[in-house]
Amino acid sequence: MSIPLQHRFADALPELATPTTARSFSEPRLVVLNDPLAAELGIDVEWLRSDEGLRFMVGQALGDEARPVAQLYAGHQFGGYVPRLGDGRAMLLGEVETPLGLRDIALKGSGPTVYARGGDGFAALGPMLREYLVSEAIHALGIPTTRSLAVVATGDQVLREEGPLPGAVLVRVASSHLRVGTFQAVRAADDRELLDRLVRHALERHAPEGADAEVSALALFDHVVRAQARLVAQWLGVGFVHGVMNTDNVTISGETIDYGPCAFLDAYSPGAVFSSIDTGGRYAFGRQPTVTQWNLARFAEALLPAIADDETEAVEAATAVLDTFPTHFNEAWIGGMAAKLGVAPDADGIVELVTDLHGQLEASAADFTTFFRDLATAARGDREPVRSVSMDLERTDAWLERWLALSPDPEAMDRVNPVHVPRNHLVEEALAAAGAGEMAPFDALVEAVRRPYEPIEGGERFAQPATAEFAASFQTF
Ligand code: AMP
Ligand code: MG
Ligand code: MG
Repeated sequence: MSIPLQHRFADALPELATPTTARSFSEPRLVVLNDPLAAELGIDVEWLRSDEGLRFMVGQALGDEARPVAQLYAGHQFGGYVPRLGDGRAMLLGEVETPLGLRDIALKGSGPTVYARGGDGFAALGPMLREYLVSEAIHALGIPTTRSLAVVATGDQVLREEGPLPGAVLVRVASSHLRVGTFQAVRAADDRELLDRLVRHALERHAPEGADAEVSALALFDHVVRAQARLVAQWLGVGFVHGVMNTDNVTISGETIDYGPCAFLDAYSPGAVFSSIDTGGRYAFGRQPTVTQWNLARFAEALLPAIADDETEAVEAATAVLDTFPTHFNEAWIGGMAAKLGVAPDADGIVELVTDLHGQLEASAADFTTFFRDLATAARGDREPVRSVSMDLERTDAWLERWLALSPDPEAMDRVNPVHVPRNHLVEEALAAAGAGEMAPFDALVEAVRRPYEPIEGGERFAQPATAEFAASFQTF
């Protein structure tokens, strides 16, 4: 068998699809294969493990009909507009019909494309394993995300600041790779017909009901505003810091994409930044909702000509939709937080309860993930784990009284508050071992994050917070 690829994106939007080919690598070797995902997609795992499957996953032996492309997109990077980004080291192999619906299959690290600019077009093994692990965790936490089917070591080295590193290709599966930046590139081309075509294509893939709307571009915008509001609320609920929320990394599908410098919070801090390149803290943990809304405003700008011929009218219509973002976000965020607290989303005084809790968390050095499991322990009658990390016992006791009066359900809490997230120290440890050729720690961590809510017998270390020293100095890159 091979994977029967379709080319819907390349056919519908040839202006955005540059034919490209993968580099021929010296000695591809399968490092990790996502068996459960392959099963969900209806792809034969045995075939993926075969020589032919392996060649497919590094962009060779794609079949005679295959037409891999690099996608064009633009984007605001840390606030500055870059008109021509595109897949510099990635390619879309095509789409495949699966039991989950239509999915893109793409490669990352497969060699330079016409959009490579100063980059080499390659990827190092460590960051690709990181994407595999963290995207698997995000998925297990019930958060929309692109997924990773496999990581294949290329047998060639890539040169990075640290020196030569083993190269790798990530096989990525996504609902689509359409981004805000895709629309920005089209808007810049000032081609109304192309913009309408892109809107139609995006609606077909992500919101088919919107095609019948009076103004389909506005229906698309509304759909994406809601999806992104829910997404960022979910990130906040698990302490996820994306790290590089440039508009080229904001999907139309509402899936998390681009696991470069991302990390999970150790202690709660709205100002938490893990990426050394984010010097201004633009993408700090607590700024993510604001940044999402800013990115959606850039999306609206790109859509304006498709919303109305009269610009003032288009701006008014788009603004009205954009202004619904805080409502959608708050609803999703408070709803998520209420679930974490084991109470109904409309429980009495829920907003104050959630707000006060975050104030207390910020003042304490409590581990964000552990704290909510400790709260379930409090709901079961033992308040000490929560009290022991408090910096203000009077405030904590008052809060606990108010919350416990709502009769929180500890069983329900344990179903939504993870024990296992890819804690930074565990990720670092697993990647260091993988770099030395030892995959067992990585595999064990993947297994742990795939079962986020179940403590593992003998695997207590996967549930333990980092030391304060580690947490204080950790950076992703
Ligand atoms: P990112 O920050 O990962 O979203 O990437 C931003 C842009 O840089 C995209 O256009 C990527 O394709 C491109 N890029 C990142 N790394 C490389 C690389 N090693 N070689 C070529 N292009 C790259
Ligand atoms: Mg990107
Ligand atoms: Mg990246």
